[in-house]
Amino acid sequence: MALAPLVAGNWKMNGLAASISELDRIIAGGRALTNKLELLVCPPATLVPAFAARARDSGVRIGGQDCHWEDSGAFTGDISAPMLADAGARAVIVGHSERRLGHQESDEQVRSKAQAAWRAGLTAIVCIGETEFERHAGATLSRLERQLGESVPDGAKADNLVIAYEPVWAIGTGRTPTPADVAEVHGFIRKRLHIRFGSEGHAVRILYGGSVKPSNCAEILTVDNVGGALVGGASLKAEDFLGIAGTYR
Ligand code: PEP
Repeated sequence: MALAPLVAGNWKMNGLAASISELDRIIAGGRALTNKLELLVCPPATLVPAFAARARDSGVRIGGQDCHWEDSGAFTGDISAPMLADAGARAVIVGHSERRLGHQESDEQVRSKAQAAWRAGLTAIVCIGETEFERHAGATLSRLERQLGESVPDGAKADNLVIAYEPVWAIGTGRTPTPADVAEVHGFIRKRLHIRFGSEGHAVRILYGGSVKPSNCAEILTVDNVGGALVGGASLKAEDFLGIAGTYR
């Protein structure tokens, strides 16, 4: 059976304790939606425990933005998957381009992080996406094929893996691919997942991410093989985030 679409908010390095009021607005507005879709909010790690406590039994889930590949150890400043799970997270984003590019994370490290997420019982949201240079070089699909092959561990299932296709050039820029481009890429990702993971790969949700907002969500989120959205900037305001989620109403 097909899983409900997932609309996930990546708050990045934004949010203080007072931001719980925004979560309250998401919870309140989400009540009318969560029978049709899943809502996930990924605040900074400092807010995960308070957000998870507040969102308990609400239908809105809380996730982390990154985790280490080890469960514990001498890794100053890092957060492990068991810590996120202990704090109430249900999922974790791994391999976001701001980690891949800003922190030189390799596909192998992203794969290990996804495995760590699974050990802790978290859904791994594995981000993939081409840079503008790769797109202009006609290397989008080969780049995605390599990231899928090397960043996604064996053993993926529809309920432990979500893929987020996020063209790097679309993140935070206001630019988006055309619906035809999204259809081509998501169709390609679906084919690769199906070849590798069979029926599970057929059911894994493939999110689109990159400058999704209320004004463009309808044309992107209704494309074939788009199973939801990973939303950055527009997830910081409950009204915009819920407006995007409302596509699936
Ligand atoms: C993101 O960083 O995951 C993202 C999709 O950002 P934005 O929506 O702001 O482009």
